[in-house]
Amino acid sequence: MLINIHTHHFQNQGIEIINKEDNPFSNGLFSYGIHPWNAEKWVEFKSKLTSELTKENCVAIGEIGLDKLKGPTLQDQIEVFKAQISIAEQQQLPIIIHCVKAWNEIKLLKQQMKPQQAWIYHGFEKAALVEDVVNSTTYLSFGARILTNTKLQEALLKVPMNQLFLETDTADCSILTLYEFVSKLKNIPLQELEISIEQNFKRVFTKWKNGLNVQHF
Ligand SMILES: [Zn+2]
Repeated sequence: MLINIHTHHFQNQGIEIINKEDNPFSNGLFSYGIHPWNAEKWVEFKSKLTSELTKENCVAIGEIGLDKLKGPTLQDQIEVFKAQISIAEQQQLPIIIHCVKAWNEIKLLKQQMKPQQAWIYHGFEKAALVEDVVNSTTYLSFGARILTNTKLQEALLKVPMNQLFLETDTADCSILTLYEFVSKLKNIPLQELEISIEQNFKRVFTKWKNGLNVQHF
């Protein structure tokens, strides 16, 4: 089964986790979170977050994180990120991370907060950091950039199968295209790739373990 860990557009292929903010009326599985660009709206959005999290098909908190190129001050972003990490821990939900030039800060937060829930870096593009991120036992999700960026392709080969996810995000490509490309890159059958990502999904998404029938959505 194909799993699209993060997308802004429905594709109707396998299991897909839609970013709820741009798809408020979707009935599928979704993630909800206050994006770092909107960190200054935290007080206003917090109750919305709380109510979205009560829905059965909300399976992750995201995109949340830190962005040094856009949004309010880093200190404000860190406060809102930490608050959402704590909520994810209470609710036993994985987080989907938006990270721009803030690897060290996020790594430090992980060391300080010692989360039990999985952290997934979405749209991973920092080839030079792959070993560091892999060693910090987080999950990496690769998007359409993998099709054309050779450094990123080399980086993906260093990611253990049990820390890997794929996603279409905002790209205009199908999740199947990404699976096919990565199975060739890794020189493994497509089915083997599907099975290992599915195992990661089942390990990380606690609602699955608690009996949520994801096929239902
Ligand atoms: Zn996104």
